[in-house]
Amino acid sequence: MAPAERGIAPGGPRRLSLRLQVTLLAAGVLLALVGAMTLGSTLLGRDNTRKLVGDNLGQLAQSMVIRLDYGMFERYREIALLAGLDTMRDGVAGNHASLRPQLERLQQTLPEYAWIGIAKPDGNVIAATGGLLERNSVAERPWFGGGLKGPFVGDVHGTVLLQALLAPSGREPLRFVDVAFPILDESGKTIAVLGAQLSWTWAQDVREAVIGPAERDAGVKAAVLREDGSVLLGDGAFTSQWRPYLQLVDGKARTHFEAPSPDRTDRAVFGFAQTRGHRSYPGLGWKVFAYQSTSIAYAPSQRLALLISIMGLIISLFGLAILWWTASRLTRPIHELAKNARALGRDPYVTMVSVVGGSSETIDLSMALRSLVRRIGGAEQKLAEANRHIEEEITDRTRGMTEDIERLKREASTDPLTGVLNRRAFLENAADDLAYARRYEHTLAVAAIDIDHFKQINDRLGHAKGDEAIRAVATLAQAAARETDRVARFGGEEFVVLLREGDLDAAFAFGERVRTMVQKDDVLRELAGVVTVSVGCAQVQPGEADIQVAIDHADQALYEAKRSGRNRVKRYGLRALRVAG
Ligand code: GH3
Ligand code: MG
Ligand code: MG
Repeated sequence: MAPAERGIAPGGPRRLSLRLQVTLLAAGVLLALVGAMTLGSTLLGRDNTRKLVGDNLGQLAQSMVIRLDYGMFERYREIALLAGLDTMRDGVAGNHASLRPQLERLQQTLPEYAWIGIAKPDGNVIAATGGLLERNSVAERPWFGGGLKGPFVGDVHGTVLLQALLAPSGREPLRFVDVAFPILDESGKTIAVLGAQLSWTWAQDVREAVIGPAERDAGVKAAVLREDGSVLLGDGAFTSQWRPYLQLVDGKARTHFEAPSPDRTDRAVFGFAQTRGHRSYPGLGWKVFAYQSTSIAYAPSQRLALLISIMGLIISLFGLAILWWTASRLTRPIHELAKNARALGRDPYVTMVSVVGGSSETIDLSMALRSLVRRIGGAEQKLAEANRHIEEEITDRTRGMTEDIERLKREASTDPLTGVLNRRAFLENAADDLAYARRYEHTLAVAAIDIDHFKQINDRLGHAKGDEAIRAVATLAQAAARETDRVARFGGEEFVVLLREGDLDAAFAFGERVRTMVQKDDVLRELAGVVTVSVGCAQVQPGEADIQVAIDHADQALYEAKRSGRNRVKRYGLRALRVAG
C-alpha cells in the first residue's frame, strides 16, 4: 500500500486514519461504559450481598432469640400451671408423698428438667424429682428467695448443690436456668415454693435447630451472652472478647454489623438480637450473636464481580472487534473514492470516477465527485476546442503570411517588368554558384546582352512599346538558356546570364542562340521591326573571388561587340579556362 493510502497526508505529518480514530473513540466510550457498569454492578452486588448476609444473620439471631424466649415461656408456664394445681396445694398441706410423682411426671415430659422440687417456706425440701435434696435446705438459693415473693426466673448459673449429685467430677460444669413459683393456699398465703432447674443444654439444641447444616458448613456460628456480658453459649469465646461487640449494639437498634471475628483471624459479619420475653415470661435480656467470616460470606459476590468483569472484558473485546470491522467497512468506500480520484489525476485514459457504494454519504460524495469531474471534463473540452480554434487561426494566418513572404521574396528577387531575376537576386545566387564551382572545380561563364539602338525604339514607338520589346527579349533569353542557368535584367535593356557548368564556348554558343532568336523573332518584328542584340561573353577565371569580375569582362566583350558593329557576339579572351578554387 502506498503511504498516501495508509493515511499519511502527502508531504504532511502522519495522521491517524479515520478508521483508527473511530475505533479509538468508540473503544474509549465502550471501555468507560463497560467499566462503569462492571464497577457499578460489582459495588451494587457487594452492597446487596452485605445487606443480605447481615439481614440473614440478624434473622438467624432473631429466630434463635424467639426460640429461646418461647422455650423459656413454655417452661415458665408449665411450672406456673403445676404450682397452681389443687393437688399441689393439697399435697403440701397434707400428704407430701403424693407430690413427687407429679413432679416426676413433668420431668419425664422434658428431659431438660434437671430437677424439680418443692420447699417449705423455711427452705426445707419436702419433695423433689428422684428424691434429690429432699429434707435438705435450699434457703440460700436465689430461686427460693425469689419464688417466696412471686414468679421467679433465675439466669444461667452453675449449681453448687446439684453439681455433685447430677454430674461426676471432672466433667464440664452443668449450668441451669431456674424457674420458681410460690404455691398458695386458698387465702393466698405462700405455703411452699415450686422450683425447677432447667439444664442449659437445651439452648445448644436451640442453636443447632436454628443454625442448620448448610449454615454450619458455611461457617455460621452463634453465641449467647448474658445481660452482664458473660458468655452463656459460645465456642470457647471469653467474656472479655465480646465486650467490643456489646459496645457496638448496646442502646442501638442495630441488627447486623461488620467487625473483626471473635478469634481475630478475619473480619466477620454479625447478626444481633436480644431476648425480650414472651407474654407472662419476662425474659432475661440474653444477647444473641450469629456471625460468619466475611471471606466466606462475601465469596459469592466476589465470584459474581469476577464473572461480571470477565464478561465485561469479553463484551469489550467483542465490541471492539465489531467496531474495527464496522469502521473498516465505513472507510473502505472513502479509500476507494480516493483511489479513483488519484487514478483520474494520474492516468490519462481514466476519465470518470466510478460510483462507490456503501453508505448514502459515500454514494453522495462519489456522485458529487462525478459531477465535478464531468464539469471539469466539459471545461477541458471547451478549452481544447478554443485551442484548436486558435491553432487553426494561427495556421491560417501563418500560411497567409508565408505566402506573403514568399510573394515578397519573389517580388524582391524578380524584375517586375520581365519576371526574370533582378540584379540583387542574381548577384546573391551567383555568389553561391561561384563558391560551389570553385569548391568542385566546375566551369562558370557569364553572358551580357544589350538591345541595339534601343533609344530609337523608345523614341519611335513610345515607352510602353519599348517595355514590351524588353519583355520579349527577356522571354527569348530565358528560352535560350538552360533550366540551370540564371537570367537577370540588370537595368534598362541590358541582361546578364550566368551559365552554370558552362565555359566560354558554351557562353558564346548561347550568345549566338539569343542573338539569332531575337533577330528572327516574329513578335519583336511585328512590334518594332528588326530588333538586334549584342552579346559579350566571359568565363570565370581561377582566382576570381567575385562574379563581378566576370561580369565586367563580359561587359568589355559586349562593348567590343557594339564597337565592332552590333548584332554580334564577342568573347572576352579566346581560350576557355577552367575556374579553379
Ligand atoms: P546602343 O546600340 O549603343 O546600345 O544604343 P542605344 O540606343 O541602345 O543606347 P543606350 O543603351 O545608351 O540607351 C538605352 C536607352 O534605353 C535609354 C533609355 O531611354 C532607354 N531605356 C532605359 N530603360 C528603359 C525602360 O525600362 N523602358 C523603355 N521603354 N526604355 C528604356
Ligand atoms: Mg542599347
Ligand atoms: Mg544599354
